[in-house]
Amino acid sequence: MTVGILGGGQLGYMLALAGYPLGLHFRFLDPSPEAPVGRIAQRVTADYTDHAALEKFSNGLELVTYEFENVPVEAAKFLAERVPVYPPPAALEAAQDRLAEKTLFRNLGISTTDFLPISGAAEFEAAVKQLGLPAVLKTSRMGYDGKGQWTLRTDEDVAKAKVELPKVALILERFVPFRRELSVLAVRSQNGETGFYTLVENHHRGGILRLSLAPAPGLEPPVQRAAEDIARRVLESLKYVGVLAIEFFEHEGRLLANEMAPRVHNSGHWTIEGAITSQFENHLRAVLGMPLGSTGAAGHCAMLNLIGDFPEPSEILAVADAHLHLYGKVSRPGRKLGHVTLRAASAERLALRLSELPAFFHRPEFCLDSALVQSASHRV
Ligand code: AMP
Repeated sequence: MTVGILGGGQLGYMLALAGYPLGLHFRFLDPSPEAPVGRIAQRVTADYTDHAALEKFSNGLELVTYEFENVPVEAAKFLAERVPVYPPPAALEAAQDRLAEKTLFRNLGISTTDFLPISGAAEFEAAVKQLGLPAVLKTSRMGYDGKGQWTLRTDEDVAKAKVELPKVALILERFVPFRRELSVLAVRSQNGETGFYTLVENHHRGGILRLSLAPAPGLEPPVQRAAEDIARRVLESLKYVGVLAIEFFEHEGRLLANEMAPRVHNSGHWTIEGAITSQFENHLRAVLGMPLGSTGAAGHCAMLNLIGDFPEPSEILAVADAHLHLYGKVSRPGRKLGHVTLRAASAERLALRLSELPAFFHRPEFCLDSALVQSASHRV
């Protein structure tokens, strides 16, 4: 049985690694000849808009899924006329546009920060007046890892943004002075079975995820239930099939939904070692209509992204409970090259293991110190 995957980055790589023990084969389509999955699976190098290539790619596939959310919806719809495509292209469509995404959340009764669409200077000024400062200006489409995003704190920031306003659809959001960022991974299978992983605490630098702690330190059951209720509403409304990630701001005891990803997610990498069934395996089980595996956590985990460079593998592996994942990519500044997961039996043991990581990980961008201080305060 061969599963087709649009996108050939590390998420696809880890999907394939999870699928081989289930007896699956994989075929990837990615425009880049450098896509890391080339090391381990069939890879078709073609543009997502190349219908002849899509047609050929789909031949003999059981179904198509994706590991990259900016796949053109049109490509997913073209393929859906030939083979089943999961998650549904409608989910892709909603997640690609911040305005559509936040409107979907609001329509489902899910809290978000206040936001307004912007399509020109006059609207921008009126929106700043209505929402107040600080505010966050974002391109509605194609933004990720902090790209296409500007935080406006002062009138000067507003004046500068007004002059440089990109001529694309934008959204202005009220800035949320959140306590922390959390995310939930949910999964729904073809037959409607659902599962939810524990909420994870995420730390970003420069808009890129650096560190996830799972479960989120000090997580209260009502907060977990609220996240699951939100995710369930999205899953049901989209008749979703596969893994869905939703990112939240925790603010004044409430969850505000910020965005969703209709795919496996960086903040779920800990599930490879830290959950009974990984997000990758459960995504495949879901899209294939197989029974889902338990989403239960098997201990406490920290996941650290390796961005741009990384120390000697043996230095990492010398730390007890550390697991290294390298994606086989050429190093480049800002590029996600791999990740490290530490799994321990208790939060205390995890903190000890984190403190034993080599000096490389104690640089500010890994957010370890603030995360540990915060974790310790949750335990008091
Ligand atoms: P996003 O691309 O929407 O995930 O934003 C990237 C990061 O910018 C988030 O993880 C937050 O740290 C920050 N951010 C985005 N929107 C807001 C907001 N409305 N208020 C405060 N911080 C935000």
